[in-house]
Amino acid sequence: MDVLSNTTKKARKVHICDWCNQPIIKGEAYEVQRSISEGVFCTWKSHINCEEVFDKLNMSSLDNGNGISESEFMFEVYIFLQHNLSDVEFEKLKEKDLVYKVLSIIKEKK
Ligand SMILES: [Zn+2]
Repeated sequence: MDVLSNTTKKARKVHICDWCNQPIIKGEAYEVQRSISEGVFCTWKSHINCEEVFDKLNMSSLDNGNGISESEFMFEVYIFLQHNLSDVEFEKLKEKDLVYKVLSIIKEKK
């Protein structure tokens, strides 16, 4: 996969984040990565928070050349949260709050 560009945009309509599958709301800043993989152009839209989680959990080290899929991303998020939260805390989390929770745990640790 070759990355052609990485840009930060402001959402003019609602998009769905390609990492966490949650909406990027109108007016929110988001990341757009354009790439080419095996001759196919790809556009990847994501929350700024999701990109930060990707970096902080060092997910690029899992990339075997084909990129990281949405399910691999969420798997890493789940593993991190299960390590850092009790079962009760984990079960209380709503799906839309998972990524945000990872960032708040990382910030608390510093
Ligand atoms: Zn997201």
